[in-house]
Amino acid sequence: MDFRPSAEEEGLRADVCEFLREELGTTHESDPAPMPPGYMPAREFELKLGARGWLARSWPVEYGGGGRPIAEQFIIEEEIALHGGPASDALSRCIIAPMIEKAGNDYQKQRYLPQLARGEITICLGYTEPEAGSDFASLKTTAIRDGDDYVVNGRKIYTSGAESSEYCWLAARTDSESPKHAGISVMMLPMNAPGVEVRPLTNLLDENWFNEVTFDNVRVPVTELIGRENDGWAALTSALGIERITIYRAYIHWRALRVLVRHARAEGHVGVSADRLAQIRIEYEIAGLLLHRAIQMHSEGVDYRAQAAAVKVFNTEFAQHLYEEGMGLLGAYGQLRDGDHHAPWDGAITHTYLSVVQDTIGGGTTEIQKEIIALRRLGLPRG
Ligand SMILES: Cc1cc2nc3c(=O)[nH]c(=O)nc-3n(C[C@H](O)[C@H](O)[C@H](O)COP(=O)(O)OP(=O)(O)OC[C@H]3O[C@@H](n4cnc5c(N)ncnc54)[C@H](O)[C@@H]3O)c2cc1C
Repeated sequence: MDFRPSAEEEGLRADVCEFLREELGTTHESDPAPMPPGYMPAREFELKLGARGWLARSWPVEYGGGGRPIAEQFIIEEEIALHGGPASDALSRCIIAPMIEKAGNDYQKQRYLPQLARGEITICLGYTEPEAGSDFASLKTTAIRDGDDYVVNGRKIYTSGAESSEYCWLAARTDSESPKHAGISVMMLPMNAPGVEVRPLTNLLDENWFNEVTFDNVRVPVTELIGRENDGWAALTSALGIERITIYRAYIHWRALRVLVRHARAEGHVGVSADRLAQIRIEYEIAGLLLHRAIQMHSEGVDYRAQAAAVKVFNTEFAQHLYEEGMGLLGAYGQLRDGDHHAPWDGAITHTYLSVVQDTIGGGTTEIQKEIIALRRLGLPRG
């Protein structure tokens, strides 16, 4: 692999850094801060990125994208993370947009992709149900055709950002007679439609961006069906992997790693702590290499699903190791949360220690990722 950046990539990185320095007042060396409460992006920030063409750098030009290699999008995402930028609406841009591009019709591409590229809309992901998580094909929410509409009834849970999304990317059963992977359809459901109710679920951080969403006779025009009826599985699997390499990246935690090492040095930590920090630093390096390999495989158009699963497992477990170690190093100070006057780095380590717990579950659990690696990389039979 050749890791050297091209002249274009270096130029882009410099432009993005300059913008972020001015916009956020931070550099790679700035101390970490807790993510502001809430899940969804700072819309104003996204609109500024969108105006520069930085939300959809690799999408086709006709749909509002920049038509550039995907590696350039990753440079932008990397720099935002390294500068401590606000959470970005990666779900819509990295999971949903590629599926619309592959499986959507012209109307849907023209309507939704440019709006996503400009940062104007947010779409939540309506997959998981109380009885359908890892085995998401068991979903029970129904969408029954009635004239020019589907009538949707059912319940989704853990729907991130539903409270602040304009649309839901909904997976629903349109044929209850077929085997479970057949009979599923995907549609774009407006969240302001009558019959949609969003109730917050509180997470470990006492935040409410996680929701239960119920649908009571919600009417969705058939024009919002993505791909063919009952063929939703094909739409859903048309762009697998990209979210696992976009959302879960070790460099989000670079600034935390730096300050913990600085703290350990100042406190004169030796022995076990030094050994663990050295191990975590190695893991940081490996996490980056795994990611770059996945990006390269994606660019070459080869199946990188097992690689994406490895990225997800390794990056999310690295983060948990880092913050567990951080909490040990901070001792009693680790008990202080954001807003407490004495909390180191305004409680950033404690905040993220709590938030990374969920990362080995969301986007497919670690066990499921390992199953993907066993099947697709090692060729082992399904368990
Ligand atoms: C932060 C976060 C954000 C999320 N956002 C969304 C969202 O926006 N939209 C959405 O639809 N969902 C969302 N989810 C839900 C997420 O996709 C599910 O939690 C996840 O797929 C696991 O499903 P489950 O919680 O039902 O657990 P289950 O599937 O019930 O799993 C329970 C345990 O059993 C294990 N297990 C299950 N099946 C197997 C198997 N075949 N082999 C080995 N082990 C197995 C799992 O690994 C897990 O440890 C989010 C979850 C989190 C944590």
